[in-house]
Amino acid sequence: MLITHGTLVTMGTPNELVSDGALYLKGEQIADLGRSAELEARYPHAERLDAAGRLVLPGLICAHTHFYGAFARGMALTGDPAANFPEILEKLWWRLDKALWPEDVRYSALVCLVDAVRHGTTTLIDHHASQHHITGSLDEIAAAVDQAGVRACLCYEVTDRDGEQAAREGIGENARFVRLAQARQRDGDQHIAATFGLHASLTLSDATLKTCVDLAGQLGTGFHLHVAEDKADVADSLRKSALRVVERLKKARILGPSTLAAHCVHVDRIETEMLLDSGTMVVHNPRSNMNNAVGTADLPWMLKIGIPVGLGNDGFSNNMFTEMAAAYLAHKQAKGDPRTLPGDQVLGMAWDHNARIVRTFFPGLGAQIGLLAAGAPADVVLVDYEPPTPLTAGNLPWHMLFGMDGTGVDTTIVAGRVLMRHRELLTLDEAAIAARARELAGKLWKRI
Ligand SMILES: [Zn+2]
Repeated sequence: MLITHGTLVTMGTPNELVSDGALYLKGEQIADLGRSAELEARYPHAERLDAAGRLVLPGLICAHTHFYGAFARGMALTGDPAANFPEILEKLWWRLDKALWPEDVRYSALVCLVDAVRHGTTTLIDHHASQHHITGSLDEIAAAVDQAGVRACLCYEVTDRDGEQAAREGIGENARFVRLAQARQRDGDQHIAATFGLHASLTLSDATLKTCVDLAGQLGTGFHLHVAEDKADVADSLRKSALRVVERLKKARILGPSTLAAHCVHVDRIETEMLLDSGTMVVHNPRSNMNNAVGTADLPWMLKIGIPVGLGNDGFSNNMFTEMAAAYLAHKQAKGDPRTLPGDQVLGMAWDHNARIVRTFFPGLGAQIGLLAAGAPADVVLVDYEPPTPLTAGNLPWHMLFGMDGTGVDTTIVAGRVLMRHRELLTLDEAAIAARARELAGKLWKRI
């Protein structure tokens, strides 16, 4: 397929804009790019997709999400509102995840994937829990991912909070699904990846951590877990081990270059050094952190010392443009300094660092994921944007943060397959998915 007459934004180093540009997609890859006239001459028989002046960007990535939270939208909870993060877990998330049945898991994922395709999010890293239906739950999500046509890295959140049997089952689900995803990748399928999920230090014993580390070592995988999201996690860790959260995880051998640590809000300078030295990847979720009022991660410091901090939504809308804007604003307000976290650093997280995280879980996608480049995966989005001021490669971050939005996404392509063409979803029936999801969510709310 030949995408013509767009403004290409390569997101390379340096980032380049190509006006009246074209991309030639062959199979699952970008095979060529350049000016429209040149590529039209080179590939005269290719199927055409006219970008009509839209921006052409690499697909967006969400590095931490929870599809299972979709049915929480609008859900009323009885009793007093949650006053702090542990109460949010107990009153909302731990009630919801126990009420999920397999079809709820599948439709929660489908609802999120409609949202992702609509907003140009082409790869997502999910962290799943459904404590009364654990075994096989990742297959339900994978089926939804396959139906949508996006890419996703899945895992199950192992926890001791519901007893030994549930913890064992969560461990087994990770092992089963990691082997399955590895087999798919060996067969050349780059749509599904897996890692070993852990909920968080505060719901995991030393014994369970050790079991998980031994098994993950055999499977050749790292971990995806919440780290020091709230001060309650720190207090729990100090109580259990006399160590702070990252220190405890380091001692348990959870850290490492294949491990993804979500949040890291309450980590001190010694812990950030441990994250850096171990090569651990961090993912920041500003909307979630503000919503739960858990505090503000010292992102400028983590980025300054070289920790690869990516950007996730932690279950918020799959509009990563909104997440970028939230990150851009949150740290200025928190530090009381408008120089904090400039726009280019925000884009560095959402594009460069998220691509690095995805490469870890999808080594088969190669080094160019997240770029428009020959040989890169053909994950491409077309975005409506008529710049009212001059747009250059240098000022693109501020156009993106102040002017663009995921609602402007017109077309979404993953692995060379068009999932949404001119705002029409081709793989997912949005109305039917929403209708069934409303029925399921209504029943689930009654169970809760
Ligand atoms: Zn999370």
